[in-house]
Amino acid sequence: MERRHLGGGRLDGAFMAVARHGTWRTRPGTRVALLTTAMTVASAGAAASFVAPEPGFTALRGGPWWLAALAVCFALTEGFTLHLRVRRGAHGMTVSEFPMVLGVLAFDPIAVIVVRAVAGGAGLFALRRQRGPKLAFNAALLAVQASVAVLVFHAVAPHALGATAGGLDRRDWLAAYLAMLTSDAVAAVLLTAVIALHDDPGEWRNLPATLRNSWQVAVTTTIALVGYSACIRNSWSVGLVAMVAVVLFLAYRAYAQLGNGNREVEQLYGFTRELEGIRDTDRLLLVALDRMRDLLRAASAEFDVPQSATGPLRRARLDGQGGEIHTELDYGAHPWLEPALAGGPVLEPGRMAVPVSLDGEPAAFIVADSFPDSGPFTAARLRLFQALADHAGTAIGRAVLNDRLRDEAADKLYVSLHDQLSGLPNRRYFHELLEAALARARAAGTGVAVVLLDLDRFKEINDALGHDTGDLLLCEVGERLRAHLQDRGVVARLGGDEFAVLIPTDGSTGAAVAAAAELASVVERTIRLGPLTLSARASIGVAAAPVHGDAAQTLIRHADVAMYAAKENRAGLRLYDPATDVNSRERLALIADLRAAVERADLLVAFQAKVDPRTGRVTGAEALCRWQHPTLGNIAPDVFIPLAEHSGLVRPLTLHVLEFALLRRAAWSRSGHDLTIAVNLSPNSLMDVELPETVERLLARTGNPPEALTLEITESTILADPAGSMATLERLQSLGVKLSIDDFGTGYSSLGRLRELPIHEVKIDKSFVQRSSIDHRDRAVVRSAIQLGHALDLKVVAEGVEDKATYDYLAQEGCDVVQGYYLSRPLTPDAFQAWLMAGVPTPAR
Ligand code: C2E
Ligand code: CA
Ligand code: CA
Repeated sequence: MERRHLGGGRLDGAFMAVARHGTWRTRPGTRVALLTTAMTVASAGAAASFVAPEPGFTALRGGPWWLAALAVCFALTEGFTLHLRVRRGAHGMTVSEFPMVLGVLAFDPIAVIVVRAVAGGAGLFALRRQRGPKLAFNAALLAVQASVAVLVFHAVAPHALGATAGGLDRRDWLAAYLAMLTSDAVAAVLLTAVIALHDDPGEWRNLPATLRNSWQVAVTTTIALVGYSACIRNSWSVGLVAMVAVVLFLAYRAYAQLGNGNREVEQLYGFTRELEGIRDTDRLLLVALDRMRDLLRAASAEFDVPQSATGPLRRARLDGQGGEIHTELDYGAHPWLEPALAGGPVLEPGRMAVPVSLDGEPAAFIVADSFPDSGPFTAARLRLFQALADHAGTAIGRAVLNDRLRDEAADKLYVSLHDQLSGLPNRRYFHELLEAALARARAAGTGVAVVLLDLDRFKEINDALGHDTGDLLLCEVGERLRAHLQDRGVVARLGGDEFAVLIPTDGSTGAAVAAAAELASVVERTIRLGPLTLSARASIGVAAAPVHGDAAQTLIRHADVAMYAAKENRAGLRLYDPATDVNSRERLALIADLRAAVERADLLVAFQAKVDPRTGRVTGAEALCRWQHPTLGNIAPDVFIPLAEHSGLVRPLTLHVLEFALLRRAAWSRSGHDLTIAVNLSPNSLMDVELPETVERLLARTGNPPEALTLEITESTILADPAGSMATLERLQSLGVKLSIDDFGTGYSSLGRLRELPIHEVKIDKSFVQRSSIDHRDRAVVRSAIQLGHALDLKVVAEGVEDKATYDYLAQEGCDVVQGYYLSRPLTPDAFQAWLMAGVPTPAR
């Protein structure tokens, strides 16, 4: 009882795809057409073999009316099917085997073949709305089935019809069974062949399972034989047989439906289980759509996410059996889909759509083209669909979220490992890459060269041509190095105008120097930046592993020492020489001493007065850190502050100065001098997220109002990490603490940037102030800095005031506060207190 024609099977989808894309002439289509033709020719041949029948061969009741009745039966029976579902293929039972058995037993073979093909085809056309190649193939298949049946039947029982007009003997039965089973098997093979040809060669795997279902044919044949035998004896008994057939049919259908119901629950469960395990969004979508097609007996399934804030319409569609999703972007929405996107399911005979919410964003699943053997879509299938879609939607939502988190994490990681300007790896990443390269070299017994390049006179270029040009120059140099090395090494930008390169070598220092020399020549080629032609030069330091060490840290430091030596001697390129590396040993010793001094709070703080030039009154003081080294004597802050920054000591140092200064200010205040106190922050201080809380705590503990404290920050500090420092600055400002831009004029601050910062004060750098009395250009800088500061509602401070002329000039230009040797040198705390009490006259007093 196997219904084996093309229609309920997997080819539906493929055929639709072919029709839609108008590529019926593609190779698989041609092959199917050839197969159809061959089957038609073979059936015609089979029919022709009965043209001259043996004598005595007559059809029992082959009269025209009976033939017409048979034709009607063939046509109608194509319209009724029962199904047992096995994945996408439907193993159905039709009742067309009944007329077939009767046809074989009682009709002229040629008539049976022709009527089977023509009437069956008409049934498929009218009742199943089959058309075109599919109809042609199925009609040819019916013809072949009929041909095989009559050939086998007449081969086994050659004279059956004439001889046994009064009844059937055992031979006829055997012939009928064999005829039906053989034709069923041939049909199964042909159907498998056409699917394999057209679409999926793997279909042959399913053939054994299909053939095992042939027992159903034997059932139909038995009923037909009993019916026929009974009918010959007594025409009325056909009614009884028909009733038995109907009862069996209904029982079978109930059994099939029960099986389907259980299977549905099972499949829904399987569906959720299957989706759960999938992490990849695309794969998830593919599996969900594929299973939806299977379970809902639809030829195509689709997932639509309409135009939204996050992007254009995305549509993933699964057609046919190709197992590939067609993704379309920015495709017009189906107008009929709108209710589904608004939240209500859509049920039409040929398609269904159900809404899902994807992270709050409306989306819909669609299935279309119900298999003809499953009839139009029903409310029951819509419910199943919604259940499937809910599960799929949840799983997809989760996967999308996962994807996004993964992307964001990757972005963050990328940003944290790369220099923003050049896109090259940054210092941290270089360090990691170098460690990995060193590990590889150790394993292979080879080496690595570490080359540090520092551009010469970069600051001059930057100052003369603007930092945009400076940036372009840096990018160009980085790109050149990268292009030169390709994947033979790694180029990183360590910061400023400093680049680092690592190149695997054979381990010799010669190879390292040769590689570095190549890089030097790459940098020195003239650089064209728009209308400008520049020539860059770099001081280059080289260290080679394993000769100069095999830890990343050591190698970078040694390359650094070599680079400084190159710069000092204007040597261009230097290989690290341990003999001359006293510097670094000294440096390390100094860091150890500094650490001890910080821990023992041995650092001192000096105070330098700040004066209002209009009144000559002392309005505040700046706290300046001092370090008296036990053997080396006074060490300048310009030396030890950078050391502290590079060795993690800057935080305790800053806190020490801050606390000391605040305690002093509170003491001055008690003695009647209400001064402001300025404390310097170093670049790393702003990365300390606890700084604002610490400041707040210290202010409270020392009994100082927040507005009495000014924190001096350089522009480069803010530029190093604009987003991070901004947050800290804003929190400091909200405490009521004043913020000042130190060394103003030496950095990159643009007007625009200055306006965005939560600052109260700019402090014009002493390099401009000192020479303003003798150099009219510096005077112009100072004047415009004052005007600019005032235009932005900022207080303007000038540091480095060393003589009366400068002081007078600043007073005349309206500078708010001045500071410098002319007024007072930085003094020890006690000396400052005494100076304050004594009221030593300042020039304006
Ligand atoms: P700065 O913040 O620009 O400090 C002003 C520097 O100019 C001080 O140098 C001060 O002694 C010097 N100075 C003041 N008046 C004059 C003048 O009329 N002529 C000249 N030529 N110089 C003058 P100092 O004390 O050597 O400090 C140097 C730098 O060290 C400071 O520059 C500051 O950046 C840093 N520094 C000092 N103390 C600290 C501190 O506690 N924390 C941090 N992070 N940095 C500090
Ligand atoms: Ca300062
Ligand atoms: Ca300064």
